[in-house]
Amino acid sequence: MSAAGTPFVVSGPSGAGKSTLLRRVISEDPGVRFSVSHTTRPPRVGEEQGRDYHFVGEPEFRRMIDDGEFLEWAEYQEHLYGTSREAVSGPTGQGLDLILEVEVEGARQLKRRLDGAVFVFIMPPSPEVLEERLRGRKSDAEEVIRKRLERAREEWKAIDMYRYVIVNDVLERAEAQLRQVIAARRVERERVLPSLAAFDFG
Ligand code: 5GP
Repeated sequence: MSAAGTPFVVSGPSGAGKSTLLRRVISEDPGVRFSVSHTTRPPRVGEEQGRDYHFVGEPEFRRMIDDGEFLEWAEYQEHLYGTSREAVSGPTGQGLDLILEVEVEGARQLKRRLDGAVFVFIMPPSPEVLEERLRGRKSDAEEVIRKRLERAREEWKAIDMYRYVIVNDVLERAEAQLRQVIAARRVERERVLPSLAAFDFG
């Protein structure tokens, strides 16, 4: 018997460079998957239905809330985002580790509902770099950028919930640190013991 995979709940202000970092870790480790959330936000250029998000209309999202299909959900910048129960139970049930990229309100719900999850916060190197990165992302309007900066301040206040904090200044270093967090979890006793059943010294 092998142990269930671990959910890694990853948050951090928009502009901390989370997506690039997570994509790199996931693409190089077949044992880690990305939890595909549902959202009512329209797709950005290059995003794919079912890969980046399940893009749904608000009535469908509300129906899923009513039917209890979400493990957590939250509103962020006037759109709804949620993690379905299925998005988590499928991969972890197969022993795969899973990265859930959620904002802090969703993380707060997962803290209560998701046993054994490991919480990781990704920080930008400085407030100036954060602002620069948000402005560099040309797809967003000034008003959206301002709101995201405000939200970043809010997210910072929730940092106590997280066990690990990774400062994303040099991408390669941040990536190595996240890998180490995942690697450490994989050798925790409760994760290893089920595969050592033969060592039953009774
Ligand atoms: P974006 O629109 O830039 O893809 O995501 C905006 C924010 O929503 C990010 O902070 C991201 O982590 C968060 N987010 C993405 N998926 C989920 C989800 O399923 N639940 C929650 N609570 N937040 C999410």
